[in-house]
Amino acid sequence: MTDEESQALYDRALSVMPGGVNSSVRATQPYPFFVERGDGATVIDADGTRYLDYVMGYGPLLYGHDLPESVHAAIQSYTSEGPMYGAPTPIEVEHAEFVARHVPSVEMIRFVNSGTEATVSAVRLARGYTGRDKIVVMQGGYHGAQESTLVEGDPMHVEPSTPGIPSSFAQHTLPVPFNDPEAITTVFETHGEDIAAVLTEPILANNGIIRPVDGYLEHLRSLTDEYNSLLIFDEVITGFRVGGLGCAQSKFGVTPDVTTFGKIIGGGFPVGAIGGRAEIIEHFTPSGDVFQSGTFSGHPVTMAAGYESLKYAAENNVYDHVNRLGERLRKGITEIATDQSPSTVVVGLDSMFKTVFTREGSTTDDGDVCSAGCEQRESCMRYDDCPKTGADVGSAETERWERIFWQKMRDHNIFLTANQFESQFVSYAHTDEDIDRTLEAYKSAL
Ligand SMILES: *Cc1c(COP(=O)(O)O)cnc(C)c1O
Repeated sequence: MTDEESQALYDRALSVMPGGVNSSVRATQPYPFFVERGDGATVIDADGTRYLDYVMGYGPLLYGHDLPESVHAAIQSYTSEGPMYGAPTPIEVEHAEFVARHVPSVEMIRFVNSGTEATVSAVRLARGYTGRDKIVVMQGGYHGAQESTLVEGDPMHVEPSTPGIPSSFAQHTLPVPFNDPEAITTVFETHGEDIAAVLTEPILANNGIIRPVDGYLEHLRSLTDEYNSLLIFDEVITGFRVGGLGCAQSKFGVTPDVTTFGKIIGGGFPVGAIGGRAEIIEHFTPSGDVFQSGTFSGHPVTMAAGYESLKYAAENNVYDHVNRLGERLRKGITEIATDQSPSTVVVGLDSMFKTVFTREGSTTDDGDVCSAGCEQRESCMRYDDCPKTGADVGSAETERWERIFWQKMRDHNIFLTANQFESQFVSYAHTDEDIDRTLEAYKSAL
C-alpha cells in the first residue's frame, strides 16, 4: 500500500487549510488518506487503495456510495434544472409532509443547512417560546459547533470548552451526567423556573454510543412537563438511522416537544431541520417572532435527495438489511472480544456499532450477557462495564483506539472512525461477505 498521492495532497492542504482539513475529525494520524471516489460500501483513495467504509460520511450515508436509482435520478434532475431559487418549491412540501407522517413528535418542520444550525435554532426557539434562558445538556453529548452547548463542567462550575466563547454564555448552560436521574432532578429543583429546555441526544451517539438506562428518557419527559420546560431530542445522527422511519423516539417510546435532524434527512447533502408540535414551531418567523432564516434552507437538490432516500427506505427492506448486518457485526465482535480481549466492550444498536476499550474488563464469558452490544440491562453480567456517562467513555483507552487499533484495521483496508468517540455505520451497500471479512480483521487486530 502506497500513500504518495495522499501525502503530497496533505502537504499542499496544510499550507492552505488549518490542519489540512475542513472538519477536525478528518485529520487522522499520521496523515489522512484523500478519497477520490466511492463505490458501494467502499471508498477508493488517491493512491488507488480501496477501503471497506464504516465511516459513511459520519452518518448521512444510509445507502453507501451508490444511491438507489430513484434518488440518483431526482438529484440529477434538480441539479440540471437550476440549483436553487430563493422561492418555495414543491419538493420541500413533499419532504416536510413525509417527515411529519412518520416521526411522532413532528407536526411542523423548518429545514436548515446543518445539524449545528438546527440545534442553534432549536435553542433560540426554546428560549423564545418559554421566555427563559437556561438550557440543560448532557456531559459528553454533542450538538455541533454551537456556542450554547460547547461547555464543560457541572451546573456549579461551567465554562466554555473552547476559546472564543465568552464565559458569560456558558452561565446559561447546565451540563449534567447522562443516565443520572437524581442529578437532573436536583438541577430542576434549583433552577427549574429558569430552564427553557433539556437538550439531549436520545442515545449519546457521538460518545462511544451510550444507550439510556431504563426509565431515563421517561424521567426527562416528566421532569420537563412538570416545570413547563421543553424536551428537545437531538436526532441529527439517530434520525432515520435508529428506529427506522420513526427515529429513536419511536424506538424508545418517548416523544419530545422538539426534534433536531440532520445527516440522513438530506440524503448526503448539507442539511438540518427543526421539527415539533405546530404550536411551538410556529414561533419561528414569519409566523412567529423568533428570528430564523437561511439562503440555502430547503435547498431543492437536498430536499429531493432526502425525500427520495426516505421514500425508498419506506418502500424497501432497507432498515431490515442494515439492522440485521449491524447485529451480526456486534455479535461477532462480542464473541471475539470475549475470547481474546476482555477490556473491549461492544456498544451500538440497529446499524450503529463501536467498541470501547475500557481499562478493566471482566472476563465473564458465560451467564447472562448482552450478545450484540450493551443494552443497559441490569441483569447483564457486564452491566458495570457498559458505559453510562460521557466520563465513562472519556476515561477509556482512547490512545489505544487511535494509535494502535484504528491503524491496524486500516492495514486490513477497513475504514473506521479514527477516534474512540465517533460511531460507525453499516449501510445498505454492505453485504454478509463484508461482515465476514470485517470480523476476520477484528480477530487479528483486537
Ligand atoms: C453531527 C451532529 C451534529 C452536528 O451536525 P453538523 O451537520 O455536523 O453541523 C449535531 N448533533 C448531533 C447529535 C450530531 O450527531
